[in-house]
Order: sequence, then C-alpha cells, then structure tokens
Amino acid sequence: MEATRARNDAPGDADAAPNSGAFRGGDRVGVLLPLPLGGAYDYVVPAGLELGEGDFVTVPLGSREVNGVVWGPGDGHVESGKLRQVTERHDLPPLSSDVRAFVEWVAAYTLAPAGAVLRMAMSARSLFGPSTHRPAARRIAYRLAGPPPERMTRARRRVIDLLTDGPPRTLADICEAAAVSASVVRGLADRATLGRVVLPEDTGFAMPDVARPGVRLTSGQAAAVAALNARIAADGFNVTVIDGVPGSGKTEVYLEGIASTLRRRRQALVLLPEIALTAGWLERFEVRFGARPALWHSDLSRSERRRTWRAVASGAARVVVGARSALFLPYPELGFVVVDEEHDPSYKQEDGAVYNARDMAVARGHLSGFPVALVSATPSLETVVNVDNGRYGRVHLPERHGAAGLPRIEAIDMRDVGLPAGSWLSPALAAAARETLAAGEQVMLFLNRRGYAPLTLCRGCGFRFECPDCSAWLVEHRRAGRLMCHHCGLSLGFPESCPDCGAGDRFAACGPGVERLAEEVRGRFPDASLEIVASDTLSGPRATRELLTRIEGREVDVLIGTQILAKGHHFPMLTLVGVVDADLGLDGGDLRAAERTYQLHFQVAGRAGRADRPGRVLLQTYLPDHPVMAALVSGDRDSFLDREKEARRRAGMPPFGRLASLIVSGRDERAASAAARRLGDAAPRGEGISVLGPAPAPLSVLRGMYRFRLLLKAARNVPVQEHVHGWLRKVSCPSNVRVRVDIDPYSFL
Ligand code: ADP
Ligand code: ZN
Repeated sequence: MEATRARNDAPGDADAAPNSGAFRGGDRVGVLLPLPLGGAYDYVVPAGLELGEGDFVTVPLGSREVNGVVWGPGDGHVESGKLRQVTERHDLPPLSSDVRAFVEWVAAYTLAPAGAVLRMAMSARSLFGPSTHRPAARRIAYRLAGPPPERMTRARRRVIDLLTDGPPRTLADICEAAAVSASVVRGLADRATLGRVVLPEDTGFAMPDVARPGVRLTSGQAAAVAALNARIAADGFNVTVIDGVPGSGKTEVYLEGIASTLRRRRQALVLLPEIALTAGWLERFEVRFGARPALWHSDLSRSERRRTWRAVASGAARVVVGARSALFLPYPELGFVVVDEEHDPSYKQEDGAVYNARDMAVARGHLSGFPVALVSATPSLETVVNVDNGRYGRVHLPERHGAAGLPRIEAIDMRDVGLPAGSWLSPALAAAARETLAAGEQVMLFLNRRGYAPLTLCRGCGFRFECPDCSAWLVEHRRAGRLMCHHCGLSLGFPESCPDCGAGDRFAACGPGVERLAEEVRGRFPDASLEIVASDTLSGPRATRELLTRIEGREVDVLIGTQILAKGHHFPMLTLVGVVDADLGLDGGDLRAAERTYQLHFQVAGRAGRADRPGRVLLQTYLPDHPVMAALVSGDRDSFLDREKEARRRAGMPPFGRLASLIVSGRDERAASAAARRLGDAAPRGEGISVLGPAPAPLSVLRGMYRFRLLLKAARNVPVQEHVHGWLRKVSCPSNVRVRVDIDPYSFL
C-alpha cells in the first residue's frame, strides 16, 4: 500500500518542472508500469536508444514484456548488475508532465499504487500493437497568417472572415463555406495572407466549428455565459458551479464555455454520468459545432479505443465527452472540464482504483491551472459548501427556458390508503394516470427496483431465496424466468419446487419491482402501451436511442422505469410522473440518504411537463412530513440544504469532517475478522481522529468474501492519507485477506 514518489507539492509545479530531457544509452531510467506496484522500476537504456520522460516503452518484467512509461531518472535501488534493458520505445506522443503529475496526485490522494492509476491513463491495451487503421493521406489546411491583401474583394473578405478566430480549414471546406473558388484561396495563400498547415493524420475527428452560431440566449443565460467565460479567460484554475433547474439552459451555457476554450486552442472534456443515454447530447453538440465530439466509455471497441486515445494524445480530438474514465486520457492541451450532473453518485468508482471523478476533475484543473465547471440542478452538499465559503463561483439559472414551468409536486400520504395485495398504485395516482392518458399524454412511473420482486419465499416452509455468495436476497426477474443476485450477478433458473421442503410452486413474491408494477398497470390500463426501462432492459446506446425515438413518437403511453430514466431527457408529451415508493432509499445508515433521495426525486420530477404542457408529480410516501418530501413539495431546496448542512456540521461529517473506510475481506472468515481486529487495535488516535469498528459490513458477505469495515472520521484539517498510510504499515495482513482503502467513501455497504 505504498504510493512511492507521490507528490503532494503545489499544483502548477508540473509546468515548471523542466522535462529533464533525454536519457541515452547506459543511463538508468525509472519506468512506471500499469500494475498495482508501488513505484517506478529501474531499467537501463540500451545503446542507440534515446528516451525522454513520458515516453511509452516496453520493458521486461520477470518472463514477460510489459508496456510502461518513462517516469524519470532511475532511483538507484536496483544494483547495476541486475538491471535489465528497455526493450523498445513506442511511436506515441509522450505522456505529458501534466498527466504524469495527475497520476501521482490521484495515487497519493486515494492511496492507490501509482501504477494502478497509470493503468487508467493507458486504458487502451491495444494501443501498442500494430495499427489496423490505414494511414491517411496528408491533408493541407489554411489559416490566417499575415496582413490582408492590398486589393480586397468580397470573395477574399468572406474567406478572411471565415478564418478569423476559427480553426484551420481545408480548401474544399473553405470553398464551400465561403462560396468561393479554389483560386481565391490559393491567391490569398500566394500573398501570404493565408498560411498552409498540415493537419494531423485524419483521425476521423472533425474540428468543431466555433464560428457557427449558438442558440439565441436569454438575458439570464447570456449573463451566465459572460460570467463563465470571464472565469475561463482568467487563464487559471477556478471552479464555477452552474446551478439551475432542469431545462434552464445549463447545457447551452457550458457549450459556450467549450466554444471559448476551443478559441483558446485548448481541449475540452465533458464528463457525463450515464453514458448510455447521450444520443440527445451528441446531437446537440453537433448542431452547435457541426462536428461530433470524441466519445469515451467502456463499451468502445478495441479499435475505437485505440483511435480515440491516439486522437486525444495527438490533440486531434478537441472535445471529449465521456464517462469518468475519460478524465485519465492523455490530453496534451486540456483547458476546461465540465462535470455534468456533478452530484451523481456514479462518479464514484468503487472497484479498482477508488476515486470520485468529480473531485479528481477539480484536482486536474488545479494541477494544470485551468477552469472547471460543475453542473447540476441539485448540487451536492460538498459543492454547495464550497460555494458558501467562496472557493467556487456560481452562476444561477432560476427559470426553465420557454413556456414550461416547473412541475407541481404533491405528496400522497400512503398511511391513509389501504392497498389491496399485489397493488402499489394509490387511487389518487391511478386517477391521475387515467386523466393523463385520456388527454393523450404520457405517464412515467418511477420505481427504483429492477426485476419482478425483491424477495421470493416458499409459503410451505418459509424458505427465502438468498444468494449463496452474498448476504442478499435473490431478485426474481420473471420475464427472464430467473432469480438473480444484484450484487454478484449470479443468475439461476427459477426452480419448480422449494429447495428446502420440496413443495411444488408455493412461492410468494414479496414487494414490487418494475416488472410487477407493469402487471398492475396492464391490468388497470389494458389499452395503454407500456415500456419498462431499466439498466437490464436496455442493451446499449442503439437500443436506448430507438426507445427514445419511440417515446418521442408517442408509441409509448406509460413508461415504468428505474433511475436510468431520471436523467436528461425531454419527453414533450410526458406530463405525469408518479413516484411509486418515494421512501425507498431513505432508510439505512448512509449519511447522504436524504440528500440523494432529494436529488433523485427532483431529477425524476424534472421529466414532467418539459414543453408547453404543465407537469404534475405525485410522490407516494409513508413519511409525508419528512424534510425530503417537504422540500420537494414546497420547492424550497435551500432550506433543506441548510438543514442538512447543519446536521452534518454538528456531526462533524463531510464536508465538515473527513472520512476514510477500510474494507477488510477474505474467504476465510476468521482470518478476515482477525485482521480487522488487529487493524482496530492499531487504529490511529489523536486530536480530531476517531475510528469506528471493526464491524461486519452491512453487506457482510459479497461474492463469497466475508467483509468487515472500519471507518476513520477526522476533522477537516487532519491529513487523513498520512494517518491511513501509517496505519496500514503497522499491520501486516495475511495474503488471503484484502484491505481496500476508500477515501471519502460514498458507499457504506
Ligand atoms: P438544462 O441543461 O439546464 O437541463 P438545456 O440546456 O438542456 O437545460 O435546455 C433545455 C432545452 O431548452 C433544450 O432543448 C435547449 O436546446 C432549449 N433551450 C435552452 N435555452 C435556449 C435558448 N436560449 N434558445 C432556444 N432553446 C433553448
Ligand atoms: Zn450474490
């Protein structure tokens, strides 16, 4: 658990540090490998090879050959007699000092080995093989290079106007856009008004065109754009929170921030949480800039990955939109990062390196000295507090664009409603749905539970189906005819008889999932066409797109969905949203339970009434007086946030205090529990620090591993990483026990 050579020094150093230049034959170099190793390993440069910091190389490791990055001079830990030689250098742009500094910073912050973080920056394993891509012909483009010609014609003026402030363009492109003949362009080049540049290899990533007009901004939006662009022009690190209700134009505002970043000849990155659902986003980008951005997510094919990685590294891809891992791409000229839906819990990566992409995006901007924008209708409490204390700036868009008002939100008090068995829709919600359908409009029912029923038991003997490898019930998926574990992915055929008492089909489904809710809806509204939307019913971007088209084309009357439906769509005819179980997610010990429930429901509510039709939202709750429901119904977000802030402040919880979790796990329960106890005994003590646990984790068995948790809670000024680092060094764990560190945990399972 060592993050060797991790630096904590001042951000901005990365630029100041001279690239110590070339290493020649006989020199020692440190090579960082994308493996969970502490630090760089020493190698010797063979005669005839010249290497610089950041170069991608292949080196021998044991009996293997591994690709890695030249990290700096060797540190002399290996005796020269045992040193092995670098095998070869790859023909790739070197990893910039900014990206290297970022890798080290993330490693130091998360206490992950630097190599494990580097692995994310080298995420395209196919980077190194021979390319399957045909080399493209060189392309010549023109840009403004000198004073205007002595004799100005209208045609010449059009060409010059076109190229002012814009990227270089090819001859064909100029002729078309400025409606001139090729001889006009060549004539300007001969007079040195235009210069020729060789465009990088045609990577298929077209240059976004900032000269295209955007939408006509409202005065509020224009003010927000001006404020954001002033902060971008300040040419240094700062964070701007773009806070505004859904549909207020936050996206339009940050697209203008991207435009000004492109004019400054820097790359831009947009992080989005739900990459499967970006078709609409990509289209908007294309309308604004006349080109598609580079896309980065886990479903890319190997060749797409390689192509995109290289285009980012060469600077050919100017704008990237992607999931959290896009933050680790090797941008040479990154100048602006947008984190859209910054409050979204999916920014926290829980497996492999444990990090929060929102926080790491801010760190990336801090290290390299560029602006960052955090965008949300329901900013996280962390972000709100950073605005309060002046660390972040804020632009505010209080109104929806166009005629659409915010939907009316009402709570339905379920304590007074006696629902018959197998029914989850209150008479009030059912009546509202009926009216909406009768008016030819669409209904969305939100239930954040996949499958048919979260628990199945045998009426004969009381047997409950449980995952053999996790402490969790198996969820029935009736359409698929299976029982599944939502934690480990186990999937069993639905049995014909009880495995315990042998009774034939005396099973009872307990509680609803979206499939079961759909049964009730079909019974009540047999003529309505219905669609279930959950992560397991959508099989990728194409299926998503088709579904959205069908919804927009009004082929669907009732949508039943999980949180995958909560984000970023405009369904003009959707006017009623029913939240079937608004209390789901409020219980449990999660410190952010209330905040998250508020965010999720607010976002779901935002789906209703996006066009000229008013929307209506009904929350079914057994806790109508809960502050979350009260805030949703009254629309008073800020009082709710103040209350949450106060509660966290009093408890010393984030963002007013800091947390770090250790999760100790192993197949051997006794070994894991003993290691957890030893860690408990060695827990750091001192001013402002306390350690809770060890205690069995709420999810006490996962994939056959027994799990124990310890939680370190500290005051804000305590250097948590140092304490955890020292703590882990004091205790040696057997090889069959794993200790995972989670700095700033979001999951407490
Ligand atoms: P948000 O990101 O805050 O949810 P969007 O930027 O997506 O808001 O805007 C919502 C909708 O309104 C989009 O379809 C967008 O194109 C449209 N819109 C926003 N502002 C304008 C404007 N000034 N002119 C025209 N359409 C706009
Ligand atoms: Zn399981």
